[in-house]
Amino acid sequence: MQEFMSIQEALEKKEGNVSIRGWVYRVRKHKEKIFIVVRDSTDIIQAIVTKENPSLFEKAKKLTIESSLMLAGKLRKEQRAPNGYEIEVASLEIVGLAEPFPITKDLSEEFLLDVRHLALRSRRLVSSLKIRSTVLFALHECLHKKGFVQVDAPIITPITSEGGAETFKVDYFKKKAFLTQSWQFYGETLVSSFEKVYTIAPSFRAEKSRTPRHLTEFWHCEVEQAWASMEDMINVAQDCIMYSIKKVLENNQKELSVLGVEEEYLKKIKAPFPRITYEEAIRLLRKKYEIEYGQDFGAKEEKEIAKQFDNFVVITNYPLSILKFYHGEDPKMPGTGMNFNIFAPEVGEIVDGSAREPDLKKIKERLKKAKIKLKKAEWYLDSRRYGSVPHAGFGLGVERLVQWICKLDNIRDAIAFPRTLTRLEP
Ligand code: ATP
Ligand code: MG
Repeated sequence: MQEFMSIQEALEKKEGNVSIRGWVYRVRKHKEKIFIVVRDSTDIIQAIVTKENPSLFEKAKKLTIESSLMLAGKLRKEQRAPNGYEIEVASLEIVGLAEPFPITKDLSEEFLLDVRHLALRSRRLVSSLKIRSTVLFALHECLHKKGFVQVDAPIITPITSEGGAETFKVDYFKKKAFLTQSWQFYGETLVSSFEKVYTIAPSFRAEKSRTPRHLTEFWHCEVEQAWASMEDMINVAQDCIMYSIKKVLENNQKELSVLGVEEEYLKKIKAPFPRITYEEAIRLLRKKYEIEYGQDFGAKEEKEIAKQFDNFVVITNYPLSILKFYHGEDPKMPGTGMNFNIFAPEVGEIVDGSAREPDLKKIKERLKKAKIKLKKAEWYLDSRRYGSVPHAGFGLGVERLVQWICKLDNIRDAIAFPRTLTRLEP
């Protein structure tokens, strides 16, 4: 068996004999010469076949876009070639001759999503997904270093934690079940066993609106900690974000350059993130729009707030009226929650967290006021019955973070096979 090297290794070798394998990225057939740009998972490189070798030339003539091949030859500098090098081909083997590839230039977004399994061969998507891989690994690593234990919870659950309208129903042997919207209820009960717990798993939201930052299935990094305050959680979330950015800068220079993301864009994010209250945010926004105290923020407002700081920004103390029943009330600012969101300038909300209400009586009052019957989630309250402790947690949207890092117009490109309102296939 011949020894193959990756295209990246070939480029690093700079000269001498190289053997590579991959797929045809571009092919230009001239009378005397054929230029083949080959790609593999690491990079692209140009190869050249000339008429001086007739049998090789005939073989190269057959090549079509995305055909798989193995080739060997001599590497040399060539300024006009992408990446500045070219292989003078000495041997060529076509492994799988491709049928006419359906993806050409100027196709609609919808068509590209129809053939997502093929579109995933593009350098841009490969780059954003490599960055996603770095981010996921960084989140795990950051939390492990801090002593968090990963404990996962069921995806099929009997409960709806975020509200009825946005749930996917599952027929569970004739019982009603749902795809999980959040791990949080499980997480809150797990703090009595592990103190510091987290998961990174899919959450499902039947989002009925088409926006560039909502998926119906997204990966959710959820953290919960016993004896912790909102402050503690802001710090953990901030560290997770900063660590992810650091790891991407260390490992993904090439991918960032394919995506056209400059280092400066990432490096301008500095911790500690600036912090304001909801009320201050309202005051800021009122300079531009009409907005009432008590209104929730949408994408427009979130981006506007973060833009003013040119950094990630933490917003705390939302009015209780727009918070869920489990967010604790801030004794220092009654009527507001010990809760926070982190907004990114170009994306808006990336993190949502709070100190949870630990008191059974208070939580029951809140449930009553909000007219929520926990029914199948009555067990959740046991965390308050049997040794309740102050605790806090947050959820971070993995694709939202990747979307921001990669400067993606649409969150779809932060996941390989996006699920959205109109997209179930492939
Ligand atoms: P939004 O207001 O943006 O719809 P949310 O407040 O409903 O989000 P949370 O329940 O707070 O969302 O979820 C925690 C985090 O999960 C969010 O801060 C966000 O990063 C991410 N997230 C929530 N919904 C989605 C979604 N549909 N697609 C992608 N990420 C999401
Ligand atoms: Mg939220």
